[in-house]
Amino acid sequence: MSPTSSPATAPASPALLHPLPSYLQADQLGPWGNYLQQVDRVIPHLGNLARWAETLKRPKRILIVDVPIHMDDGTVAHFEGYRVQHNVSRGPGKGGVRFHQDVTLTEVMALSAWMSIKNAAVNVPYGGAKGGIRVDPKKLSRGELERMTRRYTSEIGIIIGPNKDIPAPDVNTNEQIMAWMMDTYSMNTGSTATGVVTGKPVDLGGSLGRREATGRGVFTVGAEAAKHIGLDISTARVAVQGFGNVGGVAGKLFAEAGARIVAVQDHGGTIYREAGLDVPSLLKHVLDTGSVGGFTQAETLADDKFWDVDCEILIPAALEQQITKHNAGRIKARMVIEGANGPTTPEADDILQERNVLVLPDVIANAGGVTVSYFEWVQDFSSFFWDEAEINARLVRIMKEAFAGVWQVSQDHKVSLRTATFIVACKRILHTRELRGLYP
Ligand code: GLU
Repeated sequence: MSPTSSPATAPASPALLHPLPSYLQADQLGPWGNYLQQVDRVIPHLGNLARWAETLKRPKRILIVDVPIHMDDGTVAHFEGYRVQHNVSRGPGKGGVRFHQDVTLTEVMALSAWMSIKNAAVNVPYGGAKGGIRVDPKKLSRGELERMTRRYTSEIGIIIGPNKDIPAPDVNTNEQIMAWMMDTYSMNTGSTATGVVTGKPVDLGGSLGRREATGRGVFTVGAEAAKHIGLDISTARVAVQGFGNVGGVAGKLFAEAGARIVAVQDHGGTIYREAGLDVPSLLKHVLDTGSVGGFTQAETLADDKFWDVDCEILIPAALEQQITKHNAGRIKARMVIEGANGPTTPEADDILQERNVLVLPDVIANAGGVTVSYFEWVQDFSSFFWDEAEINARLVRIMKEAFAGVWQVSQDHKVSLRTATFIVACKRILHTRELRGLYP
């Protein structure tokens, strides 16, 4: 034994028992760092289950894949792909796949962890997972996009499956991409496996109502919360960041309920109309041109001015880390509904709370998408499909019940709705962790 080594009987140091994996030691953890802070805030409320909390702080499984494809011009391109399974205590991994040029491993880790929390918060029988490819899909031809999607699916094929991990759409992925993923997995396994992904086209085992589900959930939770704070949504002014599958649908439903959508921002610019934007024409403009930029029936604002807009409801429905300590003090809204995953940093959460701005956190507010993904998966297993009215009614019931439970916990513990959602979800996750026990 060397003079510096400790005797075998000395208690092991925490660093020896659970040293941080190397990929978690970076100074800049981005959204994963935000998630870790959110976990730290819930630990004091977990009672005896807190002894399992370390489980929440590290993903169960991370797969990094190289995705080489033939480009149309004859060259070979390589893309970096990820699939992270954060937790599978409550069931198979579940969560979307994102194609974006800024995707990083730590971002996908955070997104996978938020899926664990979200799925437990609405009590669907899933763990949490997420995937991504670091690519700007707008720069690919349709053929290149298909080849990249198929090669990525083959590469992650060793860890996905209807009972293992079920991908779905996320930023810049859609029904067509899910169809290619389902087909590739089915070709590789030798049998049609509709249940391997959700968010598929309805003609291929997809579910009615899935496309609108996230936005519908955002609206449902927003309307419930508005009642608690005496906010009349029929006269409310709403600002929306991101006008795609989440923000566009939520904006439409708020407008149908009488609200005025006064400002919308996306990657193409920021538009404003005090009297309220014509949402159906704006949705058509976005469908035709790809962004809100150039919409003539509105004023254009400098992007940074979006945060100063007079409104009662703000819906960030784009990417992470949009509301930070730099702009949280400027927000005029009474309520922020997180359609995006991770749009608010923990510092910004504190500023908003101090200013009495109610934040409806992503892990409950945007859980409508995965809830209908669950319905889709169940329908695929039983090969029996429900009508849209039934799907929407079940979705609204689950969202209302989950939100009511979270609201009660936030009142009882005097904590933010985010910490309350984490309390509900982490207790569920860690309880199953404890019941299952450690193997071996
Ligand atoms: N990507 C969506 C989310 O962030 C949906 C995931 C799913 O349906 O599995 O919640």
